[in-house]
Amino acid sequence: MIPNIIFIVFLLFAILFFYRNVRIITRSINLGKDIKIKDKKLKRWKLMFRVAVFQSKMVSRPISGILHIFVYVGFIIVNFEMLEIIIDGIWGSHRLFSFTGPIYTILISTFEFFALSVIIACIIFLARRNLFKVKRFWNKEMTLWPRSDAAIILITEVFLMSAIIIMNASDSILQERAVDHYVKVGSFPLSSLFIPLFDGLSTGTLIFLERFGWWFHIIGVLIFLNYIPYSKHFHVFLSFPNVYYTRLEPKAQMSNMPSVTKEVKLMLDESFEPQQDEENAEEITFGAKDVKDLTWKNLMDSYTCTECGRCTSRCPATITGKKLSPRKIIMDVRDRLEFLSKRNTRKGLINKKDLFDFITQEELWACTTCNACAIECPVNIEPLAIIFEMRRYSVLEDAAAPAPINVMFTNIENNGAPWQFSPEDRMLWAEELYLRVCL
Ligand code: SF4
Ligand code: SF4
Repeated sequence: MIPNIIFIVFLLFAILFFYRNVRIITRSINLGKDIKIKDKKLKRWKLMFRVAVFQSKMVSRPISGILHIFVYVGFIIVNFEMLEIIIDGIWGSHRLFSFTGPIYTILISTFEFFALSVIIACIIFLARRNLFKVKRFWNKEMTLWPRSDAAIILITEVFLMSAIIIMNASDSILQERAVDHYVKVGSFPLSSLFIPLFDGLSTGTLIFLERFGWWFHIIGVLIFLNYIPYSKHFHVFLSFPNVYYTRLEPKAQMSNMPSVTKEVKLMLDESFEPQQDEENAEEITFGAKDVKDLTWKNLMDSYTCTECGRCTSRCPATITGKKLSPRKIIMDVRDRLEFLSKRNTRKGLINKKDLFDFITQEELWACTTCNACAIECPVNIEPLAIIFEMRRYSVLEDAAAPAPINVMFTNIENNGAPWQFSPEDRMLWAEELYLRVCL
């Protein structure tokens, strides 16, 4: 009875804490400007299934893509077993679903296969990051915390999956010994390989191992569940809505600013009458100075980022040694949001007053607007949308654009073209050509 009560208390506490963190993240995302994304529902569902559910963009890099799919599918499937574990934990039963007979054996055997594939994939991922030091995991924005976060996730998954196999191997021997409480369900192909290792152990030790595996797995999963909202691993939840709400317009197409559109219409269209709510609009900011000036979708992007670095590894600015890294842009937005939500009070964040204290002009203007980052991103994040908005703020509110760009603006204003020549001189080149031909 006492173990059941401990389990129920722990379960409730884990669910409530997770709910609290999800609410904080939802509030953070809602700090962004409201935009309505309700169009082309069928297209959006198809996109979500293709990109988020079937991970179509992951396999553009086959080795890491396939390994990731093993972890993704394995983790989801293995956690179906959680249902039985939770019910057993509440009622004090043992292997409640074993009444399904051979179906149960097939299911648990499949879970074990996926548990093993998760273990193998995680070990390879750890080696790629830490032994082979794949470059994109070691860019400058991958400081101690993002690297540790990835390692914590991978090591935890290895331990959680191993606990299931130890639990099943000990359970099989206990069944053979007809120990009370251990219902006869037979052994499973993978865990049975470990039976010779445990066979010589006493019944008491085996019960301890089986119970340890059970508790370690369920407590580990509940702790992991509550670690996820603090980690890049939150993408396991957000990748689906984030892909669903992907911008469907052509890549890099700039959105019009309603306030500018209104001004232009007022100037050029005599019949135009602004709507009441437009007239009463609060003070308008052009572009984005801080996270609240971005849209909720931009902010959701930041919580969906897996920090995989695929964007950065394809970014021409990064490749040619510029300061810009699209992954850092996204991570900076999330850091700022985390600071505002008071979940991350890192000392380095305290003196930062807005996004420009995270992202420099040098980074912003190094972007070629090619959109390779968005094309590469496995969860359809658009770093360029944030870069655009911050550039807009720099130009329209702060007059902080780099000097060559300001020169170009002046030229357009004065000469109607980006070059430093008067419109009257535009055909000089042809006159010269004409004279030469005549001569
Ligand atoms: S759009 Fe900008 S940030 Fe993205 S890949 Fe191109 S240059 Fe890099
Ligand atoms: S923005 Fe996309 S590609 Fe870049 S690190 Fe995040 S998830 Fe990976």
